[in-house]
Amino acid sequence: TVKVRFAPSPTGFVHIGSLRTALYNYLFAKKHGGKYMLRIEDTDQTRYVEGAIEGMLNSMAWAGINHEEGAVLEDGRVAEKGDCGPYIQSERLDIYQKYIQELLEAGHAYYCFCSKERLEEVREQQKAAGMTPKYDGHCRQYTLEEAREKITKGESYVIRLKLPENRNIQFLDVVRGNVTVNTNDIDDQVLMKSDGFPTYHFAVVVDDNLMGITHVIRGEEWLISTPKHVYLYEVFGWKAPQYVHLPNILNAERKKLSKRHGDVAVEDFVRKGYLPEGLVNYVALVGWSPEDNQEIFSMDELIEKFSLERVSKSGGVFDTDKLNWINSHYIKESPVERITDLAIPHLIKAGYVAETEVEEKYQWIKDMVTVLQDRLSYVGEIVDKVDIFFTTEIKPEDQEAEEILKLEHLPQLLEVFAEKIGAVEVVDEETVKSIFKEIQKETGIKGKNLFMPIRVALTGAVHGPDLPLILKVIGKQNILSRIDYVKN
Ligand code: GLU
Repeated sequence: TVKVRFAPSPTGFVHIGSLRTALYNYLFAKKHGGKYMLRIEDTDQTRYVEGAIEGMLNSMAWAGINHEEGAVLEDGRVAEKGDCGPYIQSERLDIYQKYIQELLEAGHAYYCFCSKERLEEVREQQKAAGMTPKYDGHCRQYTLEEAREKITKGESYVIRLKLPENRNIQFLDVVRGNVTVNTNDIDDQVLMKSDGFPTYHFAVVVDDNLMGITHVIRGEEWLISTPKHVYLYEVFGWKAPQYVHLPNILNAERKKLSKRHGDVAVEDFVRKGYLPEGLVNYVALVGWSPEDNQEIFSMDELIEKFSLERVSKSGGVFDTDKLNWINSHYIKESPVERITDLAIPHLIKAGYVAETEVEEKYQWIKDMVTVLQDRLSYVGEIVDKVDIFFTTEIKPEDQEAEEILKLEHLPQLLEVFAEKIGAVEVVDEETVKSIFKEIQKETGIKGKNLFMPIRVALTGAVHGPDLPLILKVIGKQNILSRIDYVKN
């Protein structure tokens, strides 16, 4: 049966590309009734960031990409679940020791004592000679006994993979097709570092094998390393998994999407008020396409429709407009309470409401959100749109609005309207509607001639959400102040 894994390194945040990798693994597993697990790859201790594991697990839970096995959060703490653990590589050092000894004994790996300076020198010489830099195999000369003697004397070392000369290594990548690389073009990869930690390349092979991984679905930056992995499977006598290398997510300049070009971390999108359904739906479509033109997918639909065969070879461009369009669909579809609760922290932060008045003003906030809900690409955008509820100094926002304010019947209309608004206890949708009816009866002004001048006088804009609802949110006093302001 299918078993896949998402194997992030805890370097600080979940890149949107990693979210997609996790998602495709998840969809593939679910589609085939298989298992999806999460392993933490923290063998590079220099890149470790405090709290990164918790942050990553939270992001995954937020996105609804849930694993039943691996590193998990229990009461906010990192724990492990499943039969193939530990699932955090730094807790598996003894396992890697055992397997590296096997390789050393079998002559497929060797100790290397070369200093940084020597390696640098070799590299410079090779570059000067127009060659691609590569370890020159200097330490292959030592027998295992000689090497162990040096170690007893306290020499520092790494352990390298001993690749055979001039051999083609082949594998089939589900996205890329057949890949062949000659060992002459591959470095004797370091498998164990001087700090006793394995490198990613060694740990990933040992773990994927021991954890029963059938398909390795990961970013294309690992494609060039795969021949080394395949060779390791071979010398261990293990069956290599199926490889699936996903194309990069690119920015508008078709360069790899990176932190320097704006939002790339899932956390950034959460903070802005994207909904998990929106982000997941969008990200699924960067690099994969369904057979038809469907664009809106629930997780269940994605599981049903997803296939590795339809993952594209070329990189997908991250298109914020499309993300916004998809996300706004989910915002529109959401209950107003959900969007209100997400909007409140943004409104507080922008100073539109105080934290202490949220409870008392909840209904009013909800009305405000109701007015704006259909116009939000992400919830945080609300702070750019609520201004019309707070100011009293309304100015026509364009030529068209300006013309409407010059209509001859405007002063009389506003006068009657103000009088009637002044006379009601509270302004809500019902009272506004009946006031409109009365005015029509009494003055004969109707239709656009009635609504439009009032809309423009009170909001400054020709277009906008439902007028009675806007007026309810603006409230009686503010309506009267606005009318005063345009009259003068
Ligand atoms: N730890 C690697 C990363 O964060 C995982 C690569 C793989 O899936 O093999 O990119």
